[in-house]
Amino acid sequence: MRLHWHRQDLRAADNTGLTAAVEDEALPVFVFDPEILEHGAPPRVAFMLDALESLQETYREKGSDLLVAHGDPAEELPRLIEEHEAEGVTWNRDYTGLARERDRRVEDALADAGSEYERFHDAVHHEPGSITTNDGDPYSVFTYFGNKWLDHGKEDSYPEPDAAGLADADGEELPSLNDLGFEQPDATLPNAGTEAARDRLDAFCEDDIHVYEEERDDLASEPTSRLSQDLSYGTIGIREVYERTEEAMESAETDEQRESIADFRSELAWREFNIDVIYHNPSNVSQNHKDFQNPIDWREDEDELDAWKAGETGYPVVDAAMRQLKEEAYIHNRARMIVGSFLTKDLRQDWRRGYEHFRDLLVDHNTPNDNGNWQWIGSTGTDAQPYFRVFNPMKQGSDYDPEAEYVARYVPELEAVDPEDIHSWHELSEAEREEVAPEYPAPIVDHGERREEAISMFEQARGGDDDDDEDEE
Ligand SMILES: Cc1cc2nc3c(=O)[nH]c(=O)nc-3n(C[C@H](O)[C@H](O)[C@H](O)COP(=O)(O)OP(=O)(O)OC[C@H]3O[C@@H](n4cnc5c(N)ncnc54)[C@H](O)[C@@H]3O)c2cc1C
Repeated sequence: MRLHWHRQDLRAADNTGLTAAVEDEALPVFVFDPEILEHGAPPRVAFMLDALESLQETYREKGSDLLVAHGDPAEELPRLIEEHEAEGVTWNRDYTGLARERDRRVEDALADAGSEYERFHDAVHHEPGSITTNDGDPYSVFTYFGNKWLDHGKEDSYPEPDAAGLADADGEELPSLNDLGFEQPDATLPNAGTEAARDRLDAFCEDDIHVYEEERDDLASEPTSRLSQDLSYGTIGIREVYERTEEAMESAETDEQRESIADFRSELAWREFNIDVIYHNPSNVSQNHKDFQNPIDWREDEDELDAWKAGETGYPVVDAAMRQLKEEAYIHNRARMIVGSFLTKDLRQDWRRGYEHFRDLLVDHNTPNDNGNWQWIGSTGTDAQPYFRVFNPMKQGSDYDPEAEYVARYVPELEAVDPEDIHSWHELSEAEREEVAPEYPAPIVDHGERREEAISMFEQARGGDDDDDEDEE
């Protein structure tokens, strides 16, 4: 019998390490590590606990159980192996610097205890380092990585183990959120577990995947998969998701539909690109990926930061997104880009402050994607948004939420306001604003001025050696 140590793979189906352990009979285990919990936040820990509950139920229905341990895995795993007379342990790899450091400690402890262990690539189709330039270097530009990612063959998914592959067990109950030292999250979270993830995938593949390319940026209808927390916590396997895109491709009837499916696959490739980038650049977690000649002169205005967090900037689409974050622990991707640009360019605040806020509130936060995307929008990352291409929050609002439905959903002060007034809120006089929505704030900054300031801030950091064209999206 071998233990399977679940980490960010909270599922029994399509699980590479578990499938290997099943060959010798698997005994699943989850270890609550206080060091990792220190970096937790209520939405994510609550979602994780729900996912664990669902996983435990799956095992119990098959006469087995999910064993629960608390402490340092480097001590807990050798102890559990001895207690259950297991032959060893399997797990699926994590790719951030911290996780790899922890795994090295666990491996040393297991080797010292004379226990066997085996690690598997599971969270991605193509493990970091397997998609490289012709010289064998990691890619720093997504397009090339993405093209190769799409061309590489994909493995089939693994079936969920049956009862015969799982050891009989009777484990203890899972702790509550409170036991782990967390408050209930304020946000309403999505249902957790493989069944819930499959329901989301089914719903997406039925319809929205066919119009993904054209409609994914529509803020009001949000026709995206909403699978990000499932991919972050591994409640669904990446091979299973890809197989569903193959089925959709086979039944697609038009080129537009096929392009939409390819576009969705490309987002899955972005996820793996970000994992590849953080694997090769672990210091990106806290440092700019790009080198600048001079330090970036970020502002540290707490009032402006607080207004951004509260959704009180006077830029309707920005405020709607920040309030969506509080209510749902989630923001639509286009809106994440809008608020990210607003924080780093209009407010000129360090992307790390935005990253920290997202880490505390997003249910789908994971280091590679959150970090990669913040460095992208903050113009400090690999293959990042050029610093001179500053999002115009009014134009973004009118392009992607023309009827201001998204704004009305999250900003009740503007619910009854004409979309035209919402999209030109910055141009209305004080008296006009007072008349149409007295409770809603005036813009806290002038976008045009701040845009110029942001561009100079980056030019100064780059040593003033820039001759690129300015541009606005
Ligand atoms: C500032 C900022 C911070 C972000 N932080 C996170 C984060 O912490 N966790 C996270 O999973 N995503 C993050 N994203 C990426 C993206 O916004 C979310 O993955 C997406 O909105 C989730 O919705 P969905 O599952 O419906 O996505 P879909 O559009 O259905 O995409 C399917 C999957 O592809 C992946 N994906 C989609 N867009 C991206 C992207 N831009 N980069 C990498 N992978 C992507 C996700 O795993 C997603 O679930 C961030 C984006 C920005 C701009």
